[in-house]
Amino acid sequence: MVKVNSDLIKDIKKYGAFDVSKCFNCGNCTAVCPLAKADSPFPRHLIRRAHLGDKQAVLNAKGTWLCYYCGECSKTCPREAKPAAFMAAARRYATAHADVTGITKLLYKFPVLNFLVMSAVAVLFGLFMYAQRLHVRTGEKLIEVFNIPFEYIHWFGIGVMSVAVVTLLAGMVIITLRAGEIQNILKLYKEAKRPGRNVMFAGEFIKTAFMSIMREMFAFKRFRDCDTDKNEIVWYLKPWLVHSAIAWGFVGLFLSTALNFLIKDPAIRVALWYPPRFIGILSGVMLLYGTSVVILKRIAAKEINYKDSVFADWWLILTLWFIGLSGFVMTMLVYLPEVDRNTADLLFVIHVAPAMLVVVMIAFTKLAHVFYRMHALFVYELMGNLKSHITNP
Ligand code: SF4
Ligand code: SF4
Repeated sequence: MVKVNSDLIKDIKKYGAFDVSKCFNCGNCTAVCPLAKADSPFPRHLIRRAHLGDKQAVLNAKGTWLCYYCGECSKTCPREAKPAAFMAAARRYATAHADVTGITKLLYKFPVLNFLVMSAVAVLFGLFMYAQRLHVRTGEKLIEVFNIPFEYIHWFGIGVMSVAVVTLLAGMVIITLRAGEIQNILKLYKEAKRPGRNVMFAGEFIKTAFMSIMREMFAFKRFRDCDTDKNEIVWYLKPWLVHSAIAWGFVGLFLSTALNFLIKDPAIRVALWYPPRFIGILSGVMLLYGTSVVILKRIAAKEINYKDSVFADWWLILTLWFIGLSGFVMTMLVYLPEVDRNTADLLFVIHVAPAMLVVVMIAFTKLAHVFYRMHALFVYELMGNLKSHITNP
């Protein structure tokens, strides 16, 4: 039995979902949702649990990760309670509660703090890198405090990235535990593996779940199923395509940077088809395209799924857009005959400082949900397949 706790819905509203209290539980939203399933009847069920104050039900819900925010449910809500915005807020809530450091919660709940922290870290990165470049080139020290021995910088960088990676991994463990039933399933599996009983090897289930996630990552299967406005939106503006351009653009830029780092000392003005440069240009164009479309759609606010963005959504998309644009300008400059070194240094810093900020803060921003979503879908698929095979062999 659940004791009603009205504080939960107030807390979730700090992550968005400002109109959800108008819901009168009719179920229209679940009936039209293309991704709701019998075992996860969202959004109605989740909204109900949130109103009752059942925190565990909200945090453990598979539907939080299944929803791709197509907005179809909000179109049919007779009370204008915006169930799609509630699902987005529940996802932010679940993401923030998977972060053991508590930083994500603070950044989501306090937009001013978010802005100050992000700006301060970006400016610090920028000043530090500019000072380093000047120092390396001319021996001049821009700011004495930034003249830090290289090994300190190296280990500090490794330390910061380790915190981000450990936080993400801890979040995945938390999501695995939230999926529940691990002990139950292991017990059933042990019992089912009696001699003479044909129970599939657990590895086969892992493979099946893994392949399903690969289809999601590369073919965007569920995201495309969520495309209900089949004829209303031209193909190059479809949300699944635009978001894929952003995701793969970001991954491609990361890969290009890593390749540049591994292939030591490549010439700056290499041929355009030199692999790291080619991947970088292609990814930059994808990132710039995807982020520009999202920004314009959010400003226009005509499509329901672009209407209820919170500060963290705006911050991320504008930063990614800026990284794409500054990277594009920087690459163009490389191929111009005469470029002033100070201008080149400045542009480099303007491009790399926000990129470093996004990577360092990856576990504490909206980007974390990309990892958590894929992991959660994998775990729920694995658990579901195992359970159904054991109980109906
Ligand atoms: S959110 Fe709207 S459509 Fe969904 S149950 Fe509530 S009132 Fe009905
Ligand atoms: S936004 Fe789309 S996927 Fe999410 S609950 Fe509503 S209808 Fe379903």
